[in-house]
Amino acid sequence: MTPGNDKNHSGKLEKIQEILERFGVAGDADWMAVLLFARNLVAEMDLFTESQKAALQAKILDQMSKKPLDHQRFRRAIGSIQGFLLDNSKVADLRSQLKAERDGFSALYSEMNRVVQDIQASTQARESNIQRMGADTEQLVISGGSKTEMVRRLRGMIAEMVSQAREEARSWEERARQMERTANFDPLLSELYSRRALDAQLGVVLERAGQDARPLSLMFLDVDHFKNINDTYGHIVGDGVLRVLAAVVSAHAMQFGGYAARFGGEELVVLCEGLTEAETLARAESLRRDVASCPFAPQYDGPGQAELIRATVSIGVAQLRAGQTASDLVLAADQAMYAAKTGGRNMVVGYSTLISVRKP
Ligand code: GH3
Ligand code: MG
Ligand code: MG
Repeated sequence: MTPGNDKNHSGKLEKIQEILERFGVAGDADWMAVLLFARNLVAEMDLFTESQKAALQAKILDQMSKKPLDHQRFRRAIGSIQGFLLDNSKVADLRSQLKAERDGFSALYSEMNRVVQDIQASTQARESNIQRMGADTEQLVISGGSKTEMVRRLRGMIAEMVSQAREEARSWEERARQMERTANFDPLLSELYSRRALDAQLGVVLERAGQDARPLSLMFLDVDHFKNINDTYGHIVGDGVLRVLAAVVSAHAMQFGGYAARFGGEELVVLCEGLTEAETLARAESLRRDVASCPFAPQYDGPGQAELIRATVSIGVAQLRAGQTASDLVLAADQAMYAAKTGGRNMVVGYSTLISVRKP
């Protein structure tokens, strides 16, 4: 810690001592910890907005201003801090992201368990088939029929085994495809690749772009005022809106070989190999228009009929420039998306227009 910081630090402590004295609990370690958390630690956390921090501090000071400052009031202050940490929407988002990741892994794990069990069952079935065929062949020889008849029946047995093996191979291929889906696709928005798959794909595609010098662009989409949709209709309907949006985005991406993924929350990206920024802007504009005119009538299991909901998206587009990494590309598209938000939402902005605007 530098001397300046040290001074700053002891200044803050003095201020806290002052407050404790004012409320008649000077030297009380418990209340000091509460104040330290509310005033200093929270101030360092980027997770919360300034107004949220101020609201927590006001709440704690309000509780301290009431007498008596006993254990019950202390528990209430701790309760405010816990509520603040747990109910904050960013924390809730992180929790739901974690849950989605966990659900994805556990689906994959169960699928793998089932596959292992099925492999064991199919190995046993194959072994008993071979034993049966051996016994049948022996029986055939003992019964001493004509050679032609023996060959005909043996051929029949072999053909049956081959057809069973073929059927089994087909079913394993299907299982492999299913596992790939579970591993690579988003658990909620199953039409879209997961963030993990996107990160891996970005690596592959960037290397390819470096080798064959084809353009590579990325669209970054964010639903406009999505919090309002959740607040008005609830999270389940919000999820339904996201599912419909995912279907629209993936249908568009399919038309031009785009790789559509969920970046996180209500943010989606489409990786556009071989397209320049101008070409991707045109695709993004067509997608934006379709989303804006799409009546979202999400299906959900809750009571009552879901209303037709309108939703719009803001889209940022950027093209990979020489020497850029995958994060640079995503960041550029994200900045363009942010410009679309500040420009009024429900619009598409290309990153190159931001750079040209910034130039003197
Ligand atoms: P803006 O136009 O500025 O993007 O406004 P916004 O309300 O969309 O922005 P903000 O980032 O404040 O809110 C995004 C909301 O999306 C908050 C979060 O709870 C919600 N959200 C994120 N992921 C999901 C999800 O999987 N399902 C639901 N229902 N809501 C989600
Ligand atoms: Mg967002
Ligand atoms: Mg949003």
